[in-house]
Amino acid sequence: MPELPVIRALAERIEAQFSGQEVVGVVLLQFSSLKTVEPPIDALAGGTLAGVASYGKYLVLPVGDLRVVLHLSQAGRVTFEEPAKTSRGRGGVLRLNFVRDPEGTAALFVHEFGRERRVGIWVLAGDDPGPLAKLGPEALDPVVGELLMTSGDKRRLHTVLRDQRLVAGIGRGHADDILHRARLAPTRSLASLDEAERRRLHDSLVEDLTLRLDVERGREGGLPAKLSEDWRVHGHWGEPCPDCATELARVSYEEYEMTYCPRCQTEGKLLADRRRSRFLK
Ligand SMILES: [Zn+2]
Repeated sequence: MPELPVIRALAERIEAQFSGQEVVGVVLLQFSSLKTVEPPIDALAGGTLAGVASYGKYLVLPVGDLRVVLHLSQAGRVTFEEPAKTSRGRGGVLRLNFVRDPEGTAALFVHEFGRERRVGIWVLAGDDPGPLAKLGPEALDPVVGELLMTSGDKRRLHTVLRDQRLVAGIGRGHADDILHRARLAPTRSLASLDEAERRRLHDSLVEDLTLRLDVERGREGGLPAKLSEDWRVHGHWGEPCPDCATELARVSYEEYEMTYCPRCQTEGKLLADRRRSRFLK
């Protein structure tokens, strides 16, 4: 799933490409994606897109006095069309049409690959925060440092980092890489960390997300299907650790999988998971 750095850099590219321009047409192609009824999505037509921003994994597109909040979920993508197309496109979700001087057209096309339909669109009026109301501070907000230094949370670190109500913008990929960078076992808890470990966790979080943001800022156009994110350890189980060359291990839970280095992060211990415990029976 696109996480904070990917989404923030994408917001910057949408801003550069379309900001200050009038939305001349709104075509909703996937009705189940629209999570709001009022104001109607057609009310966006005639408004000017300006001040595109992001919050966590959400894109925020102000149009006139309304705001479109967009959650791409796992498989949502964005394409900049010039000229604008009129077809439904593959997995089409939403198309915002713009004009290009003197007589060209352009569009911001949101689409989704795969079978699941998970992209969410909210059209909000005034200061209605919509889905953003449930989110904690963004991962790169300095407030997060304070939170990580003081919280007595007892859940797994991997779970805590991905809890959007606590810290917004981190998913499985960055959770794996941040914990590896911090040399902390994903199964430990904030409550169990000493001051130096907490500091290391926050420094690693900032470093990891900032480095990725720099890479993402080199991207051009929308957001392609293949993100080809160059993860440090995420998804690289079975391959050598980038720091110590020990074979990276994985641990699977019902909903997700974590990758870690048994030498750098768990003092040589392999973490028990469902697959392993089944195997041991
Ligand atoms: Zn290692």
